Amino acid sequence: MNNLTATLETLRARIPDHVLLVGVTKTVPPEIVDQALAAGLTTFGENKIQEAKAKIPAVSSRARWHFIGHLQSNKARDAVALFDLIHSVDSVKLAGELNKHAAAAGKTQRILLEVNIAGEASKFGLKPEDVPAALDAINQLPRLQVEGLMTVAPLTGDARPHFRRLRELRDQLGLRELSMGMSHDFPVAIEEGATIVRIGSAIFGERKNRNEPTE
Ligand SMILES: *Cc1c(COP(=O)(O)O)cnc(C)c1O
Repeated sequence: MNNLTATLETLRARIPDHVLLVGVTKTVPPEIVDQALAAGLTTFGENKIQEAKAKIPAVSSRARWHFIGHLQSNKARDAVALFDLIHSVDSVKLAGELNKHAAAAGKTQRILLEVNIAGEASKFGLKPEDVPAALDAINQLPRLQVEGLMTVAPLTGDARPHFRRLRELRDQLGLRELSMGMSHDFPVAIEEGATIVRIGSAIFGERKNRNEPTE
């Protein structure tokens, strides 16, 4: 059993079956993604369109891809072409662009709304109080299917109250998915109801540039 297989087995044991594990492959080369696929990981997350455009065609077509980074409207067409689920929709304007490109591609695009749950100045995402109105507007767009909410909790301090607040918002809106939890905080996220966890370094090792900006 190679390292990746062993790591995934240990990690999987800590994640209930109903929670989707997204392996975050930013900075990870395609051959390693293929190894992870062979070891049973099905779904991968990328946070930059340029990197994804190069990587996705170089990986087995069995892999499923989620977009988890900040998305600019001018990259909406590429995002629709490449990704099953876009976690990071943070404005009605971006949703409108995605809807337009999904219509052109004959696709229904699954999305999550990204929420800046802790109100951090450095983070993208809708303010929690703006989510209901944004959801109403986005639900009018026929080519988008809003499946839930996503957040990145603050790096320091206790993430639990933030995860709990996102779950309460999700429940209030009657949505299904909750994408929350990364390598350092996924056990708490799962306790608070995560249905999708996004894990990179705990699978593929530390990245050289920990705080790489998202685009
Ligand atoms: C990089 C990243 C992750 C994974 O982070 P790790 O700490 O490596 O598990 C999850 N979500 C988003 C949005 C990311 O950019």
